[in-house]
Amino acid sequence: MTYNDQNIFAKIIRGELPVIKIYEDDKTLAFMDIMPQADGHALVIPKTSAVTLLDLPGDDAAYTIQIVQKVARAIEKALDKQGIILMQLSGEAAGQTVPHVHFHLIPSNVHQLGKHAAQMGDQDKIKAFAEQIKAVLDA
Ligand code: 5GP
Repeated sequence: MTYNDQNIFAKIIRGELPVIKIYEDDKTLAFMDIMPQADGHALVIPKTSAVTLLDLPGDDAAYTIQIVQKVARAIEKALDKQGIILMQLSGEAAGQTVPHVHFHLIPSNVHQLGKHAAQMGDQDKIKAFAEQIKAVLDA
């Protein structure tokens, strides 16, 4: 699928838009979702320009999944959660709203999950969760 480098996450990777980061390396970035479906909802993205998971080279997909595991473990520990919903929407038909591949990490009980990309979260609350998660990642 054709990649548009003006999408929101491409701008976030280039540092053109503010974001609450929790992890970054040369290949991936993890940050808090602006419209969380549950407390602690985070996103992990590869820096590779790919719209969906199906467009992402296998090596990048494999590496990104390792970071998904690392961040998921940190969220569980930091927020004292015992389950994380891992969501990956590939393609508009599947509900994908930002055309840069990303993995949702949503610490939640499936029955308490909020609506997808529906309501802006409280920025101070999101920042506080990010600090807790970063403290575990940086330890
Ligand atoms: P998708 O629908 O593509 O699977 O998920 C996109 C996610 O990105 C949604 O959960 C939405 O809340 C989040 N999102 C959209 N715009 C922004 C933004 O500017 N910053 C952050 N941090 N998250 C965003």
